[in-house]
Amino acid sequence: MFKRILVANRGECAIRIMRSCTELGIETVAIYTEADRYSLHVRKANHAVMIGPDPVKNYLNIHRIIDVALEMGCDAIHPGYGFLSENADFAKCVVEAGITYIGPDPDAIDNMGNKTKARTAMLAANVPVTPGSEGCLIDIDDALTQARAMGYPIMLKAAAGGGGRGIRRCDDDHELRENFPITQSEAMGAFGSDDLFMEKCIIEPHHIEFQILADQQGNVVHLFERDCSIQRRNQKLIEIAPSNFLTPEVREAMGTVAVNAAKAVNYVNAGTVEFLVDKDHNFYFMEMNTRLQVEHTITEAITGIDIVSEQIHIAAGKTLSFKQEDVSIQGFAIEYRINAEDPLNNFFPTPGLITRYHSPGGPGVRVDGGVYPGYEIPPYFDSMCAKLTVWASTWENAVKRSQRALEEYDIRGVRTTLPFYRHIAASSVFLEGEFHTGFLSLHPELLEYKPYHSREDIAAAVAAAIAAHAGL
Ligand code: ADP
Ligand code: ADP
Ligand code: MG
Repeated sequence: MFKRILVANRGECAIRIMRSCTELGIETVAIYTEADRYSLHVRKANHAVMIGPDPVKNYLNIHRIIDVALEMGCDAIHPGYGFLSENADFAKCVVEAGITYIGPDPDAIDNMGNKTKARTAMLAANVPVTPGSEGCLIDIDDALTQARAMGYPIMLKAAAGGGGRGIRRCDDDHELRENFPITQSEAMGAFGSDDLFMEKCIIEPHHIEFQILADQQGNVVHLFERDCSIQRRNQKLIEIAPSNFLTPEVREAMGTVAVNAAKAVNYVNAGTVEFLVDKDHNFYFMEMNTRLQVEHTITEAITGIDIVSEQIHIAAGKTLSFKQEDVSIQGFAIEYRINAEDPLNNFFPTPGLITRYHSPGGPGVRVDGGVYPGYEIPPYFDSMCAKLTVWASTWENAVKRSQRALEEYDIRGVRTTLPFYRHIAASSVFLEGEFHTGFLSLHPELLEYKPYHSREDIAAAVAAAIAAHAGL
């Protein structure tokens, strides 16, 4: 087993990884940039090394990070999510430096990280893939020809895309002409490549993804699905597991396909196979994320498996200690991404000083946070500052428990998505439990809420929630 792991990430994500390391008796090394001097991950690690003044770029400096790992005597590096986690060059350089990379091998990252390459590999493996263009689009004329043949609406997508960016729906020639250059430059700016492809637009799809674990001995299992259909601008906000939408038969079929997809590319370590599922339960491969995912916590809640710990064991060459038939779904879990942004102001980021912070607790409540009272959220990073994960035996109880936990959660100083989530969790449409990716646009009333400010407001909200429970 490893003795010391460098965590090439920051904030909530780095802390999550360190927690598993500590439980496994492995020392941790944090890296941080000047703006992150007071970040919680720096305090949680056994050792912390400042890697430079640029708040963001230094976290992407492959050689500096590997040098630090070598200087600090680390035998493995965990990339987390975001930053270098889907960068095949990073994985390659880590391995070449004689350090273990906790993740898939560089070829798998390369082949599955690029969406057009992944589509080609999956088609070859007989995995149902969202209908779309073969490879990348040559130019706007090629795009127009393919879109007309496929039939509108289509989704124009960046081959190297991620994080919900570089995706545009086009309903006709005019929109495609307009969006093509915009999406190209967006993709170039965000991902350093302006390669685009297109998919048929699946109408009112559910975003359902399967968590995979694969060891170096060739064993592959799935840990069932997460329903990530509650999104805004193609970005996930609330995730649930299992999905209320799947039948046992479809769940089993999708799980088998996900495992086969991983096997087809000799995938090792943790990964996620993302599908779009239409209203008739037809499912299509969308992409594979070759890393730990933000919402892995809900899978941990329903399966009892520590995914980060499994990643570490797999990287150390251990055989998976369980088989597919040993994994089962217990209850329901919901994750809320608590972001420092103001939903009432178009989700504009709200960096700033956290003056008060009290996180919820009690049965079935898990908080993965990266902030504390007196911490100033810097403006440079992703606006997610904590994740609330609740678990209960039934969907209805999970919703009620999440209402309770959201009420308990108190973050002051900056606006967050908390009041918005309280409003959603208390709505009857949420309790119904079935949503497609258009859920939030279908329910604009979910954005009509009053952000709580005073103690009296919170007390009133708690009383209202209790009254609502009594009436259920
Ligand atoms: P998923 O894991 O479901 O695919 P995203 O697409 O939102 O979710 O995943 C990765 C995103 O996480 C990155 O694009 C980045 O914006 C964000 N991210 C990166 N590093 C961190 C971090 N340390 N803490 C929180 N969020 C991060
Ligand atoms: P990212 O790499 O940014 O996560 P994805 O390819 O996973 O991008 O797509 C993100 C989201 O965009 C999906 O969850 C879905 O809501 C929407 N989307 C993507 N492709 C399609 C499609 N062909 N039809 C309908 N919605 C789509
Ligand atoms: Mg995705």
